[in-house]
Amino acid sequence: MEVPFLSLKDVNARYADELKVAVARVIDSGWYVLGEELAAFEREFAAYCGVHHAVGVGNGLDALSLIFRGYKELGAIDEGDEVIVPGNTFIASFLAITENRLVPVPVEPDPASFNLDPACVEAAIGPRTRAIMAVHLYGQLADMPALAALARRHKLLLIEDAAQAHGAMSDGRKAGTFGDAAAFSFFPAKNLGALGDGGAVVTHHAALAERVAALRNYGSDVKYRHLFQGLNSRLDEIQAAMLRVKLKYLDDDVAWRRRVARRYRDGISHPHIQLPAVAREEQHAWHLFVVRSPYRDALQRHLLAHGIHSQVHYPTPPHRQPAYAALRHADLPLTERLHDEVLSLPMGPTLHEDAVDRVIEVCQAFEGPA
Ligand SMILES: *Cc1c(COP(=O)(O)O)cnc(C)c1O
Repeated sequence: MEVPFLSLKDVNARYADELKVAVARVIDSGWYVLGEELAAFEREFAAYCGVHHAVGVGNGLDALSLIFRGYKELGAIDEGDEVIVPGNTFIASFLAITENRLVPVPVEPDPASFNLDPACVEAAIGPRTRAIMAVHLYGQLADMPALAALARRHKLLLIEDAAQAHGAMSDGRKAGTFGDAAAFSFFPAKNLGALGDGGAVVTHHAALAERVAALRNYGSDVKYRHLFQGLNSRLDEIQAAMLRVKLKYLDDDVAWRRRVARRYRDGISHPHIQLPAVAREEQHAWHLFVVRSPYRDALQRHLLAHGIHSQVHYPTPPHRQPAYAALRHADLPLTERLHDEVLSLPMGPTLHEDAVDRVIEVCQAFEGPA
C-alpha cells in the first residue's frame, strides 16, 4: 500500500461540484477582486473564529506582515523594535518581522509542545521588546493565557501566527482570538486551504482592521485616496468563493484529523519514536502529526521503503538559513536538535483508517539505525 503524505487532489475532489459552482458564480458575476464573495467570506470567517474583523489578503506571510505594518501606522511599534519569536518555526514568521525592519529575537521552545515557553519569553524581554509572536506550531495552541498575561504585564503586542491552527480551541475560543491580532494562511495544504494562495488577518480591533484593509489595497481607503504607502495583497473573488465552500467542512475535517491522531497515538509505541505531547485534545487541530526520533533519517528511509511518505517540518531553523546569516550565532541548541529529530507522518482529512493502520504497522517494525 502506498500512503501519500497528503493528497490535495483527494481533499478537493470531495467538494469538486460545489467548488465548480462557486467558480462559475464568480465568472458570471464579472467582478473578480474586492467584491461580494470576499466580503461574505470575511464575515463568515470572522464569525467562525469568533472575532469582530477578518481581512482577506494575498497569503499568510502578507497577513503576518500587514499586522506589523498596521501597528506601525498606529504607532504601537517602530523600526528597530524587537519581536520575540520561537526559534523553531517556518521562515515566514521571521520574514514578516524583518520585512518591517523589526528585529526577531528567537527563543527556545517548550520541548514537549514545540511551542513558546513563557519562561523563555519572559527571560528575553528587554527595553526594545514591543511584541511577542506566538506560532501555534503543527496546529497546537501555544500557552495563550500565560503569554497574554506576560504581554499585559510588559505592555507588549501579542500576535498569533495561526497559519497551521484553523480550528484549534481552548475554553471555547478558537485560535486567532487570544492575541491582539492573528494571521491565517489559506495555502492549499493548510487545514483550510484555497486552490491557490490566500490569507487573512483577524482581530477584535477595528482600528487595526481598517489599517490592514487599506494597506492591502495600495494604502487606499477610498478609491484613489492613499493614506499609506501600501501594497497590493488581496484575496481574490474566486479564492474567496472556494474558501466559503470549504469553510463549511472545516470542523468535520479537523474532527477527522483528531481521529487520525488518536489512532496514531494509540497504535505507535516504540522506544525510538517519541509521540507528540498534547495538553488538551481540543487545543490541537493536527495540521501535522510530528514525532521525534534520534534516528529520524533512518526512520524516514524505512517508511519510504514501505511506500509511506513523510516530511520534515523543518530541516533547518531560520537562524541557520543563509537568509539570516546575522542570526547564525544565536544560542538555540534545543531548536537545532528538534530540527534534526522531527518527522511528520501522513496526516489529512482524507487519510483512510487502513492507511493509518499501515503507517502504524511500519513504524512498529522500525529496527533503529541500520
Ligand atoms: C504556511 C505558514 C505561513 C505562511 O503562509 P503562506 O500563505 O504560505 O504565505 C506562515 N507561518 C506558518 C507557521 C506557516 O505554516
